[in-house]
Amino acid sequence: MRKQFMVIGLGRFGTSLTRTLIANGHEVLAVDKNEQPVQEIANIATAALQADCTDEAVLRELGASNFSHAIVAIGDDLQASILTTLLLKEFKVPKVTAKARNEMHGSVLSKIGADQIIYPERDMGIRLGNQLSSDNLIDY
Ligand code: ATP
Repeated sequence: MRKQFMVIGLGRFGTSLTRTLIANGHEVLAVDKNEQPVQEIANIATAALQADCTDEAVLRELGASNFSHAIVAIGDDLQASILTTLLLKEFKVPKVTAKARNEMHGSVLSKIGADQIIYPERDMGIRLGNQLSSDNLIDY
């Protein structure tokens, strides 16, 4: 089933997520406050816009409440990550996935209503560790 996603923050994570969702046949509105990442994804995403998503009026204009799933892929700027997640939940987006840098960041995101928290570096480490362990088992 074709779904509509909003991806906020087009760093390495948000960009690769957008590419993958599009490759799987979904629609993605990709947003970043900086021009360069928006230009780079413009030909790939369904729509790409330069906007600061900590601004309530901006999210309203982007039609945030019409999306069933939004992903907040802002890492370094904790304030922006938290405020954007909070606003998306206030707009009643049913599913908000937020990227956390560490447990403390994740715990705040969870308290303000994020439905799913992901820790890319930690989770990738676990995945690779499990993968390498099962490769070893096969080797023996
Ligand atoms: P990655 O690891 O995915 O490369 P990162 O964890 O280092 O990224 P940042 O570089 O902090 O995360 O943020 C990712 C993107 O989010 C950046 O391109 C940045 O411009 C964008 N961003 C930050 N604040 C906002 C905001 N308020 N609205 C929209 N985009 C934002």
